[in-house]
Amino acid sequence: MSVLSDLTALEDKGEFARRHIGPSEAEIATMLETVGAESLEALAARTVPAAIRSTAALPLPPPATEAEVIAELRGLAAKNRADIKSLIGMGYHGTLTPPVILRNVLENPGWYTAYTPYQAELAQGRLEALLNFQTLVTDLAGLPVANASLLDEATAAAEAMALAHAATKGKSDTLIIASDVHPQTRAVVEARAEPLGFRVTIATPAEIVAAAAAQKPFALLLQYPGTTGEARDLTREIAAVHGAGGLAIVAADPLSLVLLKPPGEMGADVVIGSTQRFGVPMGYGGPHAAYMAVKDAHKRLMPGRLVGVSLDAAGHPAMRLALQTREQHIRREKATSNICTAQVLLAVMASMYAVWHGPEGLTRIAKRIALQARLLAGAAKRAGFKLRHHDFFDTITIEAGAKADALMAAALKRGFNLARHADQGIGIALDETVTRDDLLALVAAIAEAAGTAAPRLDAVDAEGGIPGSLTRASAFLTAEVFRSHHAEHAMLRYLKKLEDKDVALNRSMIPLGSCTMKLNATAEMIPVTFPGFGAIHPFAPVDQATGYLEMIKRLEGWLCAVTGFAAVSLQPNAGSAGEYAGLLAIRAYHRARGDTQRDVCLIPSSAHGTNPASAVMAGMKVVVVGCDRDGNVDLDDLRAKADQHAERLSALMVTYPSTHGVFEEAIREICALIHEKGGQVYMDGANMNAQVGLTSPAAIGADVCHLNLHKTFCIPHGGGGPGVGPIGVAAHLAPYLPSHPLLAEAGPQATSHGPVSAAPFGSASILPISYAYIRMMGPEGLKRATEVAILNANYMAVKLAEHYPVLYRGRQGMVAHECILDCRGFQQNGGASVEDIAKRLQDYGFHAPTMSWPVTGTLMVEPTESETKGELDRFIEAMVSIRAEIRAIEQGRMDAKDNPLKNAPHTAAEVTAEAWTHPYSRQQAAFPLPYVARQKYWPPVKRVDNVHGDRNLVCTCAPLEAYAQAAE
Ligand SMILES: *Cc1c(COP(=O)(O)O)cnc(C)c1O
Repeated sequence: MSVLSDLTALEDKGEFARRHIGPSEAEIATMLETVGAESLEALAARTVPAAIRSTAALPLPPPATEAEVIAELRGLAAKNRADIKSLIGMGYHGTLTPPVILRNVLENPGWYTAYTPYQAELAQGRLEALLNFQTLVTDLAGLPVANASLLDEATAAAEAMALAHAATKGKSDTLIIASDVHPQTRAVVEARAEPLGFRVTIATPAEIVAAAAAQKPFALLLQYPGTTGEARDLTREIAAVHGAGGLAIVAADPLSLVLLKPPGEMGADVVIGSTQRFGVPMGYGGPHAAYMAVKDAHKRLMPGRLVGVSLDAAGHPAMRLALQTREQHIRREKATSNICTAQVLLAVMASMYAVWHGPEGLTRIAKRIALQARLLAGAAKRAGFKLRHHDFFDTITIEAGAKADALMAAALKRGFNLARHADQGIGIALDETVTRDDLLALVAAIAEAAGTAAPRLDAVDAEGGIPGSLTRASAFLTAEVFRSHHAEHAMLRYLKKLEDKDVALNRSMIPLGSCTMKLNATAEMIPVTFPGFGAIHPFAPVDQATGYLEMIKRLEGWLCAVTGFAAVSLQPNAGSAGEYAGLLAIRAYHRARGDTQRDVCLIPSSAHGTNPASAVMAGMKVVVVGCDRDGNVDLDDLRAKADQHAERLSALMVTYPSTHGVFEEAIREICALIHEKGGQVYMDGANMNAQVGLTSPAAIGADVCHLNLHKTFCIPHGGGGPGVGPIGVAAHLAPYLPSHPLLAEAGPQATSHGPVSAAPFGSASILPISYAYIRMMGPEGLKRATEVAILNANYMAVKLAEHYPVLYRGRQGMVAHECILDCRGFQQNGGASVEDIAKRLQDYGFHAPTMSWPVTGTLMVEPTESETKGELDRFIEAMVSIRAEIRAIEQGRMDAKDNPLKNAPHTAAEVTAEAWTHPYSRQQAAFPLPYVARQKYWPPVKRVDNVHGDRNLVCTCAPLEAYAQAAE
């Protein structure tokens, strides 16, 4: 008999799962003993209610190794035609990611594994990068205030619409969109407008002034330059909408603004756009950072996050998120926006692109592109073509008439995709990747289509371009930071300096309840930067993106398997966008059945702020359902509200396991109750990490859910984005998934409500991460990950319970994948606030758990399966040590005002200063436990003063010394 009785011994397919899951076999055994369970299965059985537990293995392919998956994704990437240059434009352009940014930001876990900068002191690096982003945007747009990124250009336009409606206090419900706005932007805005009851009309440039006067809109949306390339002065159009009492929103290409007069100088109230071409690959549509800049009067209505400069407790300048704490900027049922996860990593990249090139470099790039466009325009004219516009920046549109097909074919033959516009207009959008050879080939293509001989480049006269009246006169990027890092060594060190100020997952665990900060494995990240994924335009012909479509199809299938649903859409580019898309599907379903009156959405009081905000955006009325003492949905209240609103009941939104970290036993009953009244159940899937392989949204009785691929499925948080929020739906809702006006393959066409993102598949270029994760884990690995996530949380709960009361538990005394520590008692005893504990954790080298959500005065700890026992113990040791410090205050052994908690965090400058006046030692301040001394993280600033920052709002870079002087 062969020694190889079992061929599987030749391979180790389980290796990845063993490394993704932190604790070893032996550690798992020890921890099981601590929590009092015999096995992982037994623990799961005591945690997940029997009625909803799955027994069958997930129908997924068996696990593959890291090497296999990288090769598989390389093969898929190779099927995408990255060798064909897309000069399609329409909001997406070829760009050269500076290698120093590619490797040190995009491929660097110090940047991509960081969390949203809610704990400002350990996020000064990314906050500075975002402040640079805001400065870049305000300078280019010509408006004073900009936020720190939105999801994409089209949704930014929709956000601007909502802002304008709020700013004009609902005096009008009409929005005018210029006919030369990008078609995907128009489609997303129209889809967003409909449930809100806004009327959208389209006006050509020639009609806009008269239309504004006649229709008295609350806003006018313009594109600059237009989708076919025209750069025209918008001053009259903007004045016309102002005259009618509305706001002017301008969607602008930021690179064009380097040379063009900024919209702010023409009177625009809101300027939005995409910073994709600032060094972020097209990636088949995303992720990219959109931006929004507004006049000062509207800054308090701005959606998303705003970074502001404030002072720390020592009076030094320090940055933090302004006008908000955590998601409290999402104003629940009064919301006009639901945006939470945005595009921080991509905003950091775009800002660094501007830091790297500086104003002179950007001007060189823009001028080169503009010259290329003028030469090509000249070549087209010489070949006998007419141009649609005489004034343009980088994009020309050739009136190709009967020769349109020939021109498209001649270009494709030479390796170029062009844009096909209405009335046989062929658009060519130049970008910084276009070389002299490319230009020669394009001139030859134009000549071939026209049937003329190709001229030499130097024989072509430039034609059209930017008119003198539209030429930018104002300076931009005058701040020091955009002038000092043009040598690569300087840039490398600047990036490193900022990175080192922050705590990311490559330093210590980030146990953020609800946010699932698990491992983002390197093997999952490597394919993201394959050129075969990066260089694909979202509107490239489908036969050039077959690798993407294959990957997308498989991933959709796997997510169907995980959720138990019939269909999945990957289009939503954040969890919030998924909620909105899911609720629109429910709304469309009711309407298709004639139930147009169903508009009430029941939402438990413990829900995430995005839930009610999304419901409002989907045109629903929010009715809040209470929770009982154990943190569960109050069944009596639910029954009463469902009865009361039975006629109008549209949906229940429920998070499962609940935001309190508990598997509610009654979930089946809850879903059945809603169905009985004719409603649909929307499950918020943020806590999916507690479900995968053990139960599913379909098993609990939900009809639709979103998943946060940036939580459960390993896409890194990027410091606050990107994300992907796909929705899964039961078969009866599949006809109502999102669609896209430019790609039939993106979703159901006739029955869909429309698109929720600018690109057909949203943030397509980061899907390889979740693909790789599922593929490497396999069905058993995924299930085990869930079991260990539950084990880690219960281990934490047991170990910390004698020091911090654990607020909620399931029926058998277990928590799900996270637990809430009650810190309210310490505050009452004068010991310490939950914020003091969060800040003190920084002295121990840890990012705080989720603070004061969903319950004020608590910490929500979610360790995830990826943390080893050693790391959990280190965190527990820190928490226990902090509890001892609190006790010393409570018992009067430590001063109530001057103690290490109130003064936390402690900086190196403070601890090493000549003078030390506190009643506790420097040692205790900075090195409270032995392990801290061995791997000290020094917070760069002391506690940041939020109130000062909000009173003195500063949201752009000025010399930081100026604030320091002001404080003295
Ligand atoms: C993270 C989260 C969301 C929102 O997801 P985003 O991707 O940030 O928009 C919604 N609900 C819950 C419970 C969450 O934890």
